[in-house]
Amino acid sequence: MPSSVSTQDLVGKTALVCGASKGIGKACAQALAERGARIILVSRSEAPLVQTAKELSKVSAGEHIALACDMSERDRLREQLKTIIESKSGPAHIFINNTGGPSAGLLLSATPEAFESAFAHHVLTTQTLVQLLLPGMTQAGYGRVINILSTSVRIPIPGLGVSNTIRAAMAGYSKTLAAEVGPRGVTVNSILPGYTRTERFEDLLNDTAERTGRTRSEVEAQWIEGIPMRRVGSAAEVAAAAAFFASPGASYVTGQCLAVDGGRIGAI
Ligand code: NAD
Repeated sequence: MPSSVSTQDLVGKTALVCGASKGIGKACAQALAERGARIILVSRSEAPLVQTAKELSKVSAGEHIALACDMSERDRLREQLKTIIESKSGPAHIFINNTGGPSAGLLLSATPEAFESAFAHHVLTTQTLVQLLLPGMTQAGYGRVINILSTSVRIPIPGLGVSNTIRAAMAGYSKTLAAEVGPRGVTVNSILPGYTRTERFEDLLNDTAERTGRTRSEVEAQWIEGIPMRRVGSAAEVAAAAAFFASPGASYVTGQCLAVDGGRIGAI
């Protein structure tokens, strides 16, 4: 969705955007490109990424780079990104840390392996990428790490046992990192999306309807009832918050968790 952004405050900046083929990640890539950034897009499948890179070229002149890689394969990801940074893009100033959420299910039925795999996919991949990117951010004198988490950081969501646990770990990671890298001028913030209309949201809606024997509309209406703004958010609205955290104007904002949820969890 092209927006009417007029600011070009990210010209000359490079952003690594993960989970960029659709949903919130793609919207973040678009928002940053509209502000002038060059984007390195990461996701599993090549075709939608290349398509997204093409779409971005229409909103911003720079050459965007598509890297198809599973974020669970963190060593491979690190090596491929290192090559891109050293040979093509130069350092990434902005890191949108986004990927698919851990799978659903009750905490008590989750296997230890499910926790291990989610911890590796979220926390260890983040650590690997942060360690790769930080020297470049420090040298460039500009660094923004932005994690896409969930409102479950503040209020656990029933039926998302592993996810609630891992999101809390990521929030702790994020605040700790903010304190450690603040002296280098690097900021670290997290966004907690509420109900946001993406493929993942549609899947969740279908699953809930099937599980509870209600229609999709009934389930959605009940969810919306709990949102003060009485609607589901858009990926572009989450991306607008990411673009703020990425901007030069957010230079004194760090260690924050910002809910973009239409007021659903309130001021907790
Ligand atoms: P989505 O499923 O629409 O998009 C996820 C993106 O991540 C896709 O580009 C996908 O290809 C990529 N991805 C998934 N697993 C990957 C992997 N192993 N390696 C590389 N790329 C991978 O999801 P979304 O709705 O945009 O959600 C993004 C994040 O925000 C998720 O972590 C989700 O849990 C969280 N979130 C979403 C909502 C919502 O309502 N949509 C609410 C709260 C939190």
